[in-house]
Amino acid sequence: MVRSADVTIVGGGPAGSALAVALGRQGVRVELYEKARHPRLKACGEGLLPHGVSALRDLVGLPEVPTVRGLRFRAGGESVDADFPTGHGLVVRRDRFDAWLFEHAASTPNVDARPGTPYTGTRAPILVGADGRQSMFHRRLPAQAARPHRVGLSTHAIGVEGVTDRVEVFFHGDGELYLAPTGDDEVLISALFDYRQFTPDALTRLLRSIPAMRARTHRIKFTTPVLASAPLGSFVPRIVDATERLLLVGDAAGAPDPIVGDGLALAFSSTQDAASAIVSGDWRSYQRRRLARGANARRLGRLMLGLSRTERRGAWFLRHCSAIVPRLLDLAVAREPSSDRQA
Ligand SMILES: Cc1cc2nc3c(=O)[nH]c(=O)nc-3n(C[C@H](O)[C@H](O)[C@H](O)COP(=O)(O)OP(=O)(O)OC[C@H]3O[C@@H](n4cnc5c(N)ncnc54)[C@H](O)[C@@H]3O)c2cc1C
Repeated sequence: MVRSADVTIVGGGPAGSALAVALGRQGVRVELYEKARHPRLKACGEGLLPHGVSALRDLVGLPEVPTVRGLRFRAGGESVDADFPTGHGLVVRRDRFDAWLFEHAASTPNVDARPGTPYTGTRAPILVGADGRQSMFHRRLPAQAARPHRVGLSTHAIGVEGVTDRVEVFFHGDGELYLAPTGDDEVLISALFDYRQFTPDALTRLLRSIPAMRARTHRIKFTTPVLASAPLGSFVPRIVDATERLLLVGDAAGAPDPIVGDGLALAFSSTQDAASAIVSGDWRSYQRRRLARGANARRLGRLMLGLSRTERRGAWFLRHCSAIVPRLLDLAVAREPSSDRQA
């Protein structure tokens, strides 16, 4: 006789796949729906912060991808390096990374992975929404959209000169630009804009507007299409519904503005909490801990959005407050929710 599942997970992105692994290993029977077939590209800055790296290592080990030791913030003529206080970050090209993680989930005992299968509504006793920022479950557990409204773009290219093992972050009046090595001389290029600054050629315009980038990109060749995603950022005040036995994970449970680069790390560092909640039935502690982690990222996001609003403001900050920049990274890589650290 076929044993039916204990948990239905909707979404086989990083959050859903990671949770499927954690549950399957504990003997929980999982059905994992993923509407796409991996590998598929996804608009993302592709940086995994150190606390996400260590959570991922504990869960499944690490993929062979470029490591980064910190960030290089740039605005106007100013440049400040800030290395991670502990550990290192990873640059995970999302098509390969998501496929790698989904494959881990599919080969975990007790996990029935269903690629290319949109969720149609039948469910096990417990239902998990891991279907991203525009989750269908926000009808039941509503999300609040972030302000200001922002658009994100990402692509990959070869021929960008001077890329190092630090993620470069440019603050510019038209938007923020991110560069990170994805391996084999290829670079991730991502940009974040306010809606009002956005035009279809926004990314190439931004590359041309930053003098330091103009000089480094005259031989640039794009290797993947430019993908867009909007609106960015959301806050979900309630992420569990004990009556419906519904729980949200990953971006579905609230997405920090990508300026913090914490979405993936937040998903992985909350995976064990979500799995424990499902196994023990203590859903409230998952809600409390996940929201506290998300609040750290939101606070940092607000601060960084304020600093990055104009190139002049960013340059002023880097010139006069360079000593504070590493402290920002400390905040970004904070492992535990602040309420737990104080306890
Ligand atoms: C421009 C941009 C830059 C970013 N930069 C970074 C960064 O540098 N670092 C970082 O950590 N984060 C970054 N993020 C955030 C990061 O992309 C997300 O936090 C991450 O993708 C969340 O993973 P997830 O699994 O929750 O959701 P997703 O990655 O969105 O996965 C959800 C999955 O659910 C599937 N799905 C949806 N609906 C259904 C359905 N009905 N049935 C079945 N399957 C379904 C989708 O196909 C998808 O595979 C960035 C985001 C953007 C937009």
